[in-house]
Amino acid sequence: MTAIAERTSTRYPDVRNYIGGAFVDGNAGQYLDVTNPADGSVISRVPLSAAGEVDRAVQAAKKAFPGWSATPLKERVQVFFRYKTLLEENIDELAALVTEENGKIDSEARAEVLKSAELTEFACSLPQIVAGEVMEVSRGVECRVERYPIGVVASIVPFNFPNMVPNWTIPNAIALGNCMILKPSEMVPLSAGRIAELLREAGLPEGVFNDVHGGQSTVEAICDHDGIEGITFVGSTRVAKVVYRRGTANLKRVLALGGAKNHLIVMPDAEPEMTSSNVVASMSGCAGQRCMAASVMMAVGKSDHIIERMTAIVRAMVPGKHIGPVISREAKQRIESYISEAEKGGAKVLVDGRNFVVPGKENGYYIGPTLIDYVTPDMRIAQEEVFGPVMTIIRAKNVDEALSVQQKSRYGNAASVFTESGGVARYVMEKASAGMVGVNVGVPVPREPFGFGGWNESKFGVGDITGRGSIEFWTKSKKMTTKWNKEAGVNWMS
Ligand code: NAD
Repeated sequence: MTAIAERTSTRYPDVRNYIGGAFVDGNAGQYLDVTNPADGSVISRVPLSAAGEVDRAVQAAKKAFPGWSATPLKERVQVFFRYKTLLEENIDELAALVTEENGKIDSEARAEVLKSAELTEFACSLPQIVAGEVMEVSRGVECRVERYPIGVVASIVPFNFPNMVPNWTIPNAIALGNCMILKPSEMVPLSAGRIAELLREAGLPEGVFNDVHGGQSTVEAICDHDGIEGITFVGSTRVAKVVYRRGTANLKRVLALGGAKNHLIVMPDAEPEMTSSNVVASMSGCAGQRCMAASVMMAVGKSDHIIERMTAIVRAMVPGKHIGPVISREAKQRIESYISEAEKGGAKVLVDGRNFVVPGKENGYYIGPTLIDYVTPDMRIAQEEVFGPVMTIIRAKNVDEALSVQQKSRYGNAASVFTESGGVARYVMEKASAGMVGVNVGVPVPREPFGFGGWNESKFGVGDITGRGSIEFWTKSKKMTTKWNKEAGVNWMS
């Protein structure tokens, strides 16, 4: 059994669903091409699964649930100790797959797989973390809380981290006793098949993890299926709202992470070398296709020396070598139109990544890293998610003016301040309207046990998707009160 069917003339055969421990063809017979963004070549085809295939996966997961949920947590995490080792042992191949389907450069793809291993490490510590909530409430009377898995759950993921984002949910949800259906992005479906193979190799029983590939109608079938108790979603705000509304209307618990527009506030006292390199890395890493990428730099006061340094760093970057392509031709066109519109509106393009061609990869979807100065807060590029290697610079007179732009954003994933002043740093950390804030850090991703999750329209639902914050989502608690003494007396609580 392999992740992919035997036929086809593409580099990889057709992607297959993984249901009940076996790779199976999609019944619906509808396929979409999978493209390598670096050269535009079609590398595989992905099935667009219909409600019937979602149901097959749910039935397989339901069948596996009684056995898996009754397995002690200590035994369940043994699978993830082995899975973590397998991720590390197979990093060359897993990273190459990410590069091929998503386009990110090798070092970024490796970092993504290493982060998956780190996330799995957290799941391995769950027995210690969920242990013990017991209280003596009276003589011989105690209350305790125990956690139970919620059942069959679904995880719907985006294109930008084909290996890591699935691993935000797989280790914790499954180690806590749930059975899962993963719905990978139809643009990057290859990594999910290898993840299924590695979980099987690690000893995960059949049916506990399933892949169902597809797009909108597959997601709708997940939201509507009675057998699914909980859904996590990671992707754009537009679709996060759809999934949150439809899933909760069907009485499921839903946690839906949406898009982002992250502001970096750069104060004039910021250390110039560190600040400029961190700001550029934040906006250009993974070609700007990170929900934690800096998108707006609020340049406070006299910060021209930092902008000049950033310009030099950006000019020295070589697309194809230091920065990969964006995901699709449509994404490239969308990003370039944001730049053109801002320029027409009076902004100054300091470094222009439009119409960038990488020799030998003329059909790739490359955009060079771009810096645009003198953007005003009312411009579309200042307000909407661009999701490309573009830094919009807005000038501000003081920290409050900079903060007020950040606070008005509809999103609230991340925000950072670059300064040498502890007082200013603390002020921004308190006032920023975002779920993840940083000081002198361009990409303030919290490490587990802290959970990943934003505010405002960057997240719908309660809790975080990783770390300790995810435990509440993946489990239901049972509160137990016991009395083991022979006293017959009662009080008003009895
Ligand atoms: P997307 O919203 O287009 O797709 C996400 C998932 O939803 C995919 O599996 C896709 O098949 C499905 N989908 C797409 N359209 C749908 C529809 N109309 N109805 C139902 N399902 C649909 O997102 P994307 O382009 O794959 O990923 C990029 C987005 O993800 C960005 O907005 C980025 O900020 C966001 N993102 C957010 C986080 C976070 O933690 N907040 C993390 C990573 C990515």
